[in-house]
Amino acid sequence: MKKTLQQIADWLELDQEMDERLVTGVSINTRTLEEGDLFIPFRGEKTNGHKYVAQAFENGAVASLWQKDEPNPPQNVPLLFVEDPEKALQQMAVKYRGEHLATFIGITGSNGKTSTKDLLAGTLSPYFKVQKTEGNFNNQLGLPLTILSLDEDTQFAILEMGMDGYGQIEFLSKMAKPMFTVITNIGEAHMEALGSREGIAKAKFEIIQGLLPEGKLYYDGDEPLLQQLVAKEAHLNTKSFGTGPSNDLQVSWMETTKEGSVFCVKGMVEGEFFIPVLGQHQVKNTLAAILIAQQVGLTDEEIRNSLENVSLTNMRMQLVNGEHGTLFVNDAYNAAPTSMKAALEFMKTTTMRKDKWIVIGDMLELGQLEQQYHEDLAEEIDLQAIHHICLYGPRMKHLYEKLIAQVPAERLIWTEQDYEPIIESIRSQADEHSIILLKGSRGMALEHILKAFTKED
Ligand code: ATP
Ligand code: MG
Repeated sequence: MKKTLQQIADWLELDQEMDERLVTGVSINTRTLEEGDLFIPFRGEKTNGHKYVAQAFENGAVASLWQKDEPNPPQNVPLLFVEDPEKALQQMAVKYRGEHLATFIGITGSNGKTSTKDLLAGTLSPYFKVQKTEGNFNNQLGLPLTILSLDEDTQFAILEMGMDGYGQIEFLSKMAKPMFTVITNIGEAHMEALGSREGIAKAKFEIIQGLLPEGKLYYDGDEPLLQQLVAKEAHLNTKSFGTGPSNDLQVSWMETTKEGSVFCVKGMVEGEFFIPVLGQHQVKNTLAAILIAQQVGLTDEEIRNSLENVSLTNMRMQLVNGEHGTLFVNDAYNAAPTSMKAALEFMKTTTMRKDKWIVIGDMLELGQLEQQYHEDLAEEIDLQAIHHICLYGPRMKHLYEKLIAQVPAERLIWTEQDYEPIIESIRSQADEHSIILLKGSRGMALEHILKAFTKED
């Protein structure tokens, strides 16, 4: 962006005379601050960002916000005095969004936001200037920072929107005013805050609150809760995607190869596609990308070509070669019941390797039903297809106790908080015939197990 200090003061409706120096970005972190940035200090629980304002100027900041009731503002540097720096950040994003000509796309859902964002960005970027949320910057700070980082000539802004309670997606959607919105699926994450799957669906559905009048919602049509919510909104322009035949775009067939997934779609787009990504759930996410790409005018052929080269953010069903010829499926970024089921389904059906291992860790934030959700995984693990089951974390004990009567001891391990027995078991038994899934909640950090088998640190 290119705004003068005076323009920013106007955006924030401040009664301050500023000069015409240019602000070219915003930053909340002096370590990554770039010359020309406006620094935004927050009072956090651990530290107070106002302590770093002097550092920000040393590192090249043009100006800084300053919370009005914070004592001792530095002299002789340009400061914009605001009531609340977080609100000011959001207000700037709203203003910048209002002026920006890009097509904004908002993506929410329990699982698959980051993946769908990457798939869609990969589909559009050979043909348009596309920017997307970096990593997982999807909350009330990450979203405005992402919006403010958009170049002026960007044509598509693909934004991930996360939440852990009611009202948040509405807030983010109203900030981004998307032309297209996607709800990838409804799972069980954040059950604690929202009480039920119905509650989660309603919270995700808030994404339509900021949708432009001529905008569209793309949603997982296999999810009855979303079908019901859509049915109540007569004027909403929607398209559904999924595996069921009633969807506007349906996966009619798919096969996993060594390099990725080949699949056929039926409906608004026809034909066969390939993505270098694994898992039926990722194919479903791809349908959202295909629908939007078609809506913005790409031909099926153009979509097909760009999908062949898409890549996902690390640790989402990522194939990694380990020592002794082992092959890991690194899905250790996170886990909740729906994404766990999706990964277990992939392991059941994959023909990439014969000796199948699952290394799965606790699923966090499930509230009162957490024991049930862990026990229920016993039904999802195909004991014929999966040869080694390694469970990690205190909650996985519930699953261990379910499985212990059915699975011979040499094929089943549970450890509460020590990776070593699992590493040892893989080291002594896995080889070039083995495929090993790693999946657990972020707090379980199962990528540590992978580190034992790869050279990089
Ligand atoms: P977060 O809420 O942590 O930001 P996210 O919604 O961005 O998550 P991803 O990071 O894309 O989701 O994927 C998280 C996990 O969910 C990965 O293990 C991925 O393979 C799995 N996943 C992705 N899409 C789906 C889907 N449509 N259904 C079920 N699981 C999915
Ligand atoms: Mg994400």
